[in-house]
Amino acid sequence: MTAGTAILDKARTERRTVLTEFESKKLLERAGIPVVETRLVRTKQETISVSKGLGFPVVLKIASPDIVHKSDSGGVRLGIANATQASRAYSEIMSSIKQRYPSAIIHGLTVQKMARPGIEVIVGMSKDPQFGPVLMFGLGGILVELLKDVSFRIVPITKRDAAEMIREIKGYPLLKGYRGQEPANIDMLEDLIVRVSRFVEQTPEIKELDLNPIFAYKDRVVAVDARIILEG
Ligand code: ADP
Ligand code: MG
Repeated sequence: MTAGTAILDKARTERRTVLTEFESKKLLERAGIPVVETRLVRTKQETISVSKGLGFPVVLKIASPDIVHKSDSGGVRLGIANATQASRAYSEIMSSIKQRYPSAIIHGLTVQKMARPGIEVIVGMSKDPQFGPVLMFGLGGILVELLKDVSFRIVPITKRDAAEMIREIKGYPLLKGYRGQEPANIDMLEDLIVRVSRFVEQTPEIKELDLNPIFAYKDRVVAVDARIILEG
């Protein structure tokens, strides 16, 4: 966990409690939690070369500890298909962010593989004053906002608890493959939730965690966005 410690130390030194998506994904990756391949870049040239290296289509996102809601800030571009589009998206994101948040600290941009559409789910952790870390599982997108269709368990959880969390939500039939749609790999989702439980148990510095969304397929699950907030 040396590199993981380095990320936490850097945030502590800079007196910030927000980890960027990139930093959050690095910690998660080391904990064995599947995240989409994500690189940090600092220049337009690097954006283009890394995009080519990953293979189009890619996603570009602003990387800043001061910008927590990236889409709302004009900081996310999906489905970038070639070098010209990557170059344009780099300029557009940077100028939009500099205009809206002139004092934001910018680490650069992330370039990510564009994941194909899957069933969107979310896993979160927040700390309850009485019970400590509590995990949440739900369907992503408008379903979670509109229906509050989520389940909760106190950390640490077993694989059996994770299985129950998944089956408890009303949207469970969607995960099983509704009307011929591709199902989600439930076993891999259970595994992911257990790994998140272990990770937060072993990292008490974490105050809040959000994997929103995770894309679930029949043979794979992968978090495409991650946010970690540290204790102050
Ligand atoms: P925000 O900070 O606004 O939550 P996200 O990183 O979640 O930003 O990106 C917004 C949306 O874009 C996600 O909810 C997801 O639907 C889509 N998205 C983000 N990253 C990827 C990716 N790597 N591949 C495919 N879709 C993505
Ligand atoms: Mg998100």
